[in-house]
Amino acid sequence: MKSSIKKLQNILKLEGERGYDNRAVMGGFNRLLDNWENEARSEGVPEALIEAISQKLRRYSSLDVPSRREVLLHIRDLLEKASNGSPLDLPLPPPPAPVTDESLAVVAPPVPKVETQGRRPRPAPTAVAEGLAALNASVTVLPQVGPARARALGRLGLRTLRDLLYYFPRRYVDYSQLKPINRLWYGEEVTVIGTVRDVSVRPVRGGQMQLIEAVLSDGSGALRLTWFNQQEPARRLRPGMQIAVAGKIDQYMGRLVMNSPEWELLDQQQLNTNRIVPVYSLTAQITQRWLRRQINQVVTYWAPRLADYLPETIRRNADLIDLGTALLQMHFPDSWEQLQAARHRLAFDEIFFLQLGMLRQKRAWQESRARVFDTPAEWLEAVLQGLPFPLTNAQQRALADVRHDLASGRPMNRLLQGDVGSGKTVVAAMAIAMVTRLGAQAALMAPTSILAEQHYQSMLRLLAGKPRLLPPQAIRLLVGSTSEAEKREIRQGLSDGSIKLVIGTHALIEDPVTFADLQLAIVDEQHRFGVEQRAALRAKGDNPHLLVMTATPIPRSLALTIYGDLDLSIIDEMPPGRQPVSTYVLTPRERERAYRLIRNQIAAGRQAFIIYPLIEENEKSESKAAVEEYNRLQEEVFPDLSLGLLHGRLRPDEKDEVMERFRRGEHHILVSTSVVEVGVDVPNATVMLIEGANRFGLAQLHQFRGRVGRGGDQAYCLLIPDSSDEVENERLRVMAETNDGFVLAERDLEQRGPGEFLGTRQSGYSELQLANLTDIHLIEKARRQAHWLFEQDPDLQRPAHKLLASALERFWSGGKGDIS
Ligand code: ADP
Ligand code: MG
Repeated sequence: MKSSIKKLQNILKLEGERGYDNRAVMGGFNRLLDNWENEARSEGVPEALIEAISQKLRRYSSLDVPSRREVLLHIRDLLEKASNGSPLDLPLPPPPAPVTDESLAVVAPPVPKVETQGRRPRPAPTAVAEGLAALNASVTVLPQVGPARARALGRLGLRTLRDLLYYFPRRYVDYSQLKPINRLWYGEEVTVIGTVRDVSVRPVRGGQMQLIEAVLSDGSGALRLTWFNQQEPARRLRPGMQIAVAGKIDQYMGRLVMNSPEWELLDQQQLNTNRIVPVYSLTAQITQRWLRRQINQVVTYWAPRLADYLPETIRRNADLIDLGTALLQMHFPDSWEQLQAARHRLAFDEIFFLQLGMLRQKRAWQESRARVFDTPAEWLEAVLQGLPFPLTNAQQRALADVRHDLASGRPMNRLLQGDVGSGKTVVAAMAIAMVTRLGAQAALMAPTSILAEQHYQSMLRLLAGKPRLLPPQAIRLLVGSTSEAEKREIRQGLSDGSIKLVIGTHALIEDPVTFADLQLAIVDEQHRFGVEQRAALRAKGDNPHLLVMTATPIPRSLALTIYGDLDLSIIDEMPPGRQPVSTYVLTPRERERAYRLIRNQIAAGRQAFIIYPLIEENEKSESKAAVEEYNRLQEEVFPDLSLGLLHGRLRPDEKDEVMERFRRGEHHILVSTSVVEVGVDVPNATVMLIEGANRFGLAQLHQFRGRVGRGGDQAYCLLIPDSSDEVENERLRVMAETNDGFVLAERDLEQRGPGEFLGTRQSGYSELQLANLTDIHLIEKARRQAHWLFEQDPDLQRPAHKLLASALERFWSGGKGDIS
């Protein structure tokens, strides 16, 4: 079967499994289509079929879930026919949750009459007592929420009224355009107000479904409305009623219709039509219509009554709207501008709280005491003399920072940032030496056992070689695969203090190891660890000094925000004699050239990496794709060479083994998916080929590139985009222009926003709902205000800051935990 067809089938299946969220392919189907069409054409798939599929999929993102499913079913059938009717294992699951309002009948009690046209809903009567604590009341205080609905809401994480207030819409539909029927256009989303003329209900599809039809007229014309299987319009619509309907104008037999429109009586408050309408994520037994009504009740009652915890001055300085208005506008915006302002305000709050928390944390460690390690200059001089190379100026500066911290009597809390290959390890080694010189212990944690092993070797060289600062047996490696007997021995040595330095993976914090006197904790590749893990390592000692290292070059402004609790040292200079990696952007047609270069390098005794991007957000299919590519390369391109394969579905020990074989030179080429960290030193590797390079951020590409050129030889980085998008490929060309990670990071920040720099587990940032960190100005603003406030009243003790103090407490107790 043609691979383009097979691929599409897989993606359809995946998309079904994901609940039709248009995320089976990164960037949605539209992103996929250009490539797919070309691929299908080159495989001789009939043009008519390509056209048909493409046309359907282009609209996919704008469809609702049931229609998406329809479209996919249809395409599935087309594909099935195309592949000669061979049966396919592609059952598409039903849509995940009721998406239309009426798929479940809601028995509504009489609705209080509210003014007809007013956009701004009036406070609805609720049974809630006054006072902020009342927001902690269970949702069951709402008249329409009994135990069953409370359970359903609970599945959405909505337990209290506050939860409802902060349950923001997933998206919005603009039904604020009100039009007479004779001015309607096919395809537009509008609200129409008119009188119901005719209502009929009839069975269709052999009685399996019910079709409800109505005619709406407004004096200028008539519009046909249809619903399938919906109880409420069938039961409630009567000729003569005045209603507002909202939806997309469609065409049927040459006449305009609206299918499954939102609707409501005109003498009722309009939440579903005639405005920008919120769309919430739902679950079974909860409908949009019902949820909108509940949230509207809560928000209209509470928003005007909420006292704003942000001091007036800050609001004014940062140009923010007040909290109540923001919450109201988030749910039921009067305009897109007001929605924007609301979002801005609430996103500000998130970053502001985060910053305040970090400042507090920072002060806490600044106020705590730590052992003093005062390093004599002569001693350090002598040790540095013994190193195989002189330190660069940047390394010396970083080391001076560390030395100063260790002698300060306060726990060091420092981020050491430096490009791949900039030489962070030796700085860490010197820190260890300063601490172990006085008999204390140090621990170094790395994200993978390969990296841990590599550090172990480096530390033996740097600390147990010449001059001998530690005996080799005082340095040990503890990883998952360490034998139980050896682990026992290490535990013993750590608790009696005979082992001075332990290097390891998570095993260090998971294992019940206790230290006699842990005074320095070092975390490498900090972005790979969560804050809890940092904290856990630190907790193994009594206020030990902490040094975290990262190779992700983060622009300074952003680093201060993300790691606001840490001091920062930057190694912005490479050791001398490094040859820059020659970087080329090739078109897919030039792939042969890339293979030729790899062959030549291998003939000269070198090795190569080939990286594949994560195309589908699914490890299984992604790994399958890697296996297929690996097979193709092995069988068709490099049949005479030895290839190793790494992908996300391998067990850790399998990964280690492949890596180790590559390192020993048993494989000429290492094929790997990007999910696998190839963060390991293989000085003999001189080629890094990256397929689908356009899918990566520059900073990430730079990380890959850093894997080669570690020996003295000329190294190459080849980027092959899988898109012909000029802008995208222009972006890649910057890689060829500079080898400076910071320059690339700044570019990334400009072009793609700061998301690139944040692992999913970054300090508290993964918890942010609204602030997606793409707005550097917002971040800066929140940071400035947080600092300003912290200077005035660090403990928020003034009466004017009482509300703020409790809001901050709530923010940090919401699972955001300790930032250490
Ligand atoms: P990273 O910052 O990526 O962890 P490493 O510490 O692994 O970098 O250093 C990369 C390589 O550069 C190592 O082989 C190391 O021995 C070497 N190196 C480090 N500092 C210097 C220096 N000042 N002069 C020469 N080589 C250095
Ligand atoms: Mg390193």
